Amino acid sequence: MEIPEFPILGTEPLSVEFANTMYGSGAAQTDYLQTPELIALWFAEMVGSDAGAPLPPPVDQQVRALRDAVREILYAVAGGRMPQPGAVEIVNEFSGRAPSFPVLTWSAGEPPTTHRLFATTGVDGILARIATECVELIAGSDTVTVRPCPAPDCTMLFVKNHSRRRWCHPSCGHRDRQARYYRRHHPTEATR
Ligand SMILES: [Zn+2]
Repeated sequence: MEIPEFPILGTEPLSVEFANTMYGSGAAQTDYLQTPELIALWFAEMVGSDAGAPLPPPVDQQVRALRDAVREILYAVAGGRMPQPGAVEIVNEFSGRAPSFPVLTWSAGEPPTTHRLFATTGVDGILARIATECVELIAGSDTVTVRPCPAPDCTMLFVKNHSRRRWCHPSCGHRDRQARYYRRHHPTEATR
């Protein structure tokens, strides 16, 4: 199977990259987790998982259900609205699938740091990690601003990690400036 070019920014928290696997809108929408094979490839690329083998149904449906819920919640927080009913319950159900605990790392000459370790490997651990990170991203002690990219036809979410960042990727900024330039110079065509 040909490996598709996934919409991965490589800079975002895992839950945001996960939400971005549904790309575009309307008839042009593409689900990059449409098949068990695609899910396995995405997992391998994003979490270097041992879940490299295609997931049996209905696990692949559960992956997409969590993705849709995470995406709905991130878009809701970006839009300053409540998420659709059920999305919060789905994320909570998955975050409860694997226990996790904080791990302390302390090396000489460095400040102590912590990260969260999930007790379950495999797909349940990955989904629990994505769900937990989504919860902590939007409601944890260190909440962030999530935004959809404003470039034409781009639906990628990103964490606005500094005040000047406007687009998901510099290439979208370039495209957006080109589109606005075009609208200014071809006002009638652009409104068709
Ligand atoms: Zn973009």
